[in-house]
Amino acid sequence: MSQFLSFIYLIVSLAAITFLISFAVYALRNRQSVGAVAFAVWLLFVSGWLFVQNLLPYLSEDLLFTGLRIELLFLCFIPPTYLLFILKFTSHRHWMNSWRQLTLFAVPLLTILFGLNSDLETMIWKDIEFLNVNNLKSANYEVGNWLIIFWLFSIAIMGFVFYEVNRNSKLSFNLDKSQAKIFKIAAGISFVLSFLSLIPQIQPDVIKIIAIGYAISGILIGFSIYHYQLFDLSPVIYQSLLENLQDGIIVVNQEFRVLQINERAASLLNLDSKNLLGQALQTKLPPASPWLNVILFKQNEILIRSENQEESYFEIQFSTLNEKTQATNQLVLIHDVTQYRASKMAEQSVREMAEVRAMELDVLRKVAETLNQSVQQKDVLTEGLETIVSLIGARFGYVVLADEFGRPGLAGSFRLPEAVQAAFGAYPICPVCKSFERLMNGEYQEPITFMPCKVLFDVSISYPGLISIPLKLADKQMGFLNLVMAPEVIFSGDEILLLQTLGDQFSAAIERTRMYEQFEKLAMIDSLTGLYNRRQLFILGQIEFSRACRYNHSIAVLMLDIDLFKKVNDVYGHLIGDQVLQEIANRCRSILRNSDIIGRFGGEEFLFLLPETSIQQAQNIANRIRLLILDRPIMTDRGDISISVSLGISNMDGDCDSRLDWIVDQADQALLRAKELGRNRVVTWQENQLPLIQKINKFK
Ligand code: GH3
Ligand code: MG
Ligand code: MG
Repeated sequence: MSQFLSFIYLIVSLAAITFLISFAVYALRNRQSVGAVAFAVWLLFVSGWLFVQNLLPYLSEDLLFTGLRIELLFLCFIPPTYLLFILKFTSHRHWMNSWRQLTLFAVPLLTILFGLNSDLETMIWKDIEFLNVNNLKSANYEVGNWLIIFWLFSIAIMGFVFYEVNRNSKLSFNLDKSQAKIFKIAAGISFVLSFLSLIPQIQPDVIKIIAIGYAISGILIGFSIYHYQLFDLSPVIYQSLLENLQDGIIVVNQEFRVLQINERAASLLNLDSKNLLGQALQTKLPPASPWLNVILFKQNEILIRSENQEESYFEIQFSTLNEKTQATNQLVLIHDVTQYRASKMAEQSVREMAEVRAMELDVLRKVAETLNQSVQQKDVLTEGLETIVSLIGARFGYVVLADEFGRPGLAGSFRLPEAVQAAFGAYPICPVCKSFERLMNGEYQEPITFMPCKVLFDVSISYPGLISIPLKLADKQMGFLNLVMAPEVIFSGDEILLLQTLGDQFSAAIERTRMYEQFEKLAMIDSLTGLYNRRQLFILGQIEFSRACRYNHSIAVLMLDIDLFKKVNDVYGHLIGDQVLQEIANRCRSILRNSDIIGRFGGEEFLFLLPETSIQQAQNIANRIRLLILDRPIMTDRGDISISVSLGISNMDGDCDSRLDWIVDQADQALLRAKELGRNRVVTWQENQLPLIQKINKFK
């Protein structure tokens, strides 16, 4: 080659070396980026090769062969480092496992070995002849057999790089079109030029062209990477995105061979990500691994329990990768949803709790509403039970209350089965049992699941779903409410509380009715004699009077006054007088029918209303009363006292023009007449005895 051409080559080479080294320095600065170090090493080997080539003509003849060997040293590492860089940059670094790297470097290392060993160097160079033309040295030689193999190896590598750059979708994904084009041109240049090495006729000068070609490839790719800041951007992001993703990602082909897997997926599957690529998952995962079924049968969720029993939930998505040539590759995305599920479940349980509370409040409200609707114990028990049984979903329910002597008695029931009804019916009063006594002693403060009821125990009726709720108000035990549920029903703590609250509501309502009834009784009953008071006497009397008028029945009225009662008080005192009054009231009550009404009309005057009774019958009754009192002296604390009474009789014989107060007044007049006639007798009112008009409105 002429001196001029050599000079030009030197200038071009130096410029190329400058670029190559600059790009190498840039890459090393970004050495954390994937492929940056391999890129820098490749560029340094290319520039080293170029440099030594340019140095050769200026070396002394002694050093020329050493120069050749150094040149070989640089040349050998160019193809493998180039391939490594491309594989890493296209995110295929997993392909480069240790034994593959070893094969990649085997040919270059052997080449170097042959070149450095004087016995074997003929494998590389044969018949070396050193020339000195115009003071420029060069070496002429015949290419050795191994060097041809090396060149073939280089062509294969350059070809593979060219194929990979053209085919790799990730590269096109990372780079835009023009960047990808530069990569393709660069790979094309080095691939095409490496074929020149196979033409022996133009050796060794052709090497220079190849070297420049490689340098151009390096510069083009370096320029592209530098210009688009690729080491800073796409590959870094792409790779770290995949690796730092919280989700596990696996790409498998049709036979479930792993094409791609990130660290997260590998750790989830408990596999070593390094030796996974290309391996079938079925062979790598132990047969017991739950992930095997997930991936083989495309399950969309899985629960994994760790050794310390911690539970993790994963959602798995499968999608077919849309690559033209590999439509059957599956992308498996594993997403950890443990926390999401936990928060969802917490949210759901809060919602459920709120719903339960709302339902409980609704039950309490409805029960309270029903219980407040009546003041009659019978109604409260019947309707209250119906509401509670229906709302709680019980099969039936009944209430057992203690009477004034603490004895249990069935007070009310709803949907009571016949057998149970019959069991209660068999006893006039329920026998007291141990558990009822204990209940009454306040030993059961909370609902219990056995039956404090001897009646049912005796007839062996026992229900598995029974719950007994004590009915109590403050310290006062009243009885129990039994609800019988379906046998499999089990109550939670909250439900037991609700039942007790219902029981308390029920107890309060029952107590309220008791108090009301007592109050009502007080309002109409005379406390000394237990007979109706005058007010109640007239209320009931009016009802009977109207009925007699409506059905055209007779009704008789008797007025009784104790004879000379003042004397009793005077002689024995008022307390003894009271005892006499009580005994006379009892005797009067004892001979009357249920339909008869008797009340205390005044101090020691009693009034009898006898429905459907004629004058005749009334006279008989009046005499029986008189004799009943007269015949037996009354026993008092101060001895027996003989007493007589006088009675006046009147009646209404279906005459609707008459009035109750008139009839009562007539009886009173007859009584007066009896007194006038000497007491201890019965007098029937007669028309001409007293002018009626004078007595009208006497009782208003
Ligand atoms: P007569 O035969 O005329 O009826 O004579 P009497 O003494 O019974 O006269 P009267 O019927 O007017 O008697 C009323 C007396 O009854 C006055 C009072 O001392 C007595 N008395 C009225 N209410 C009571 C009561 O609740 N207890 C007692 N111990 N005495 C009463
Ligand atoms: Mg009197
Ligand atoms: Mg009297």
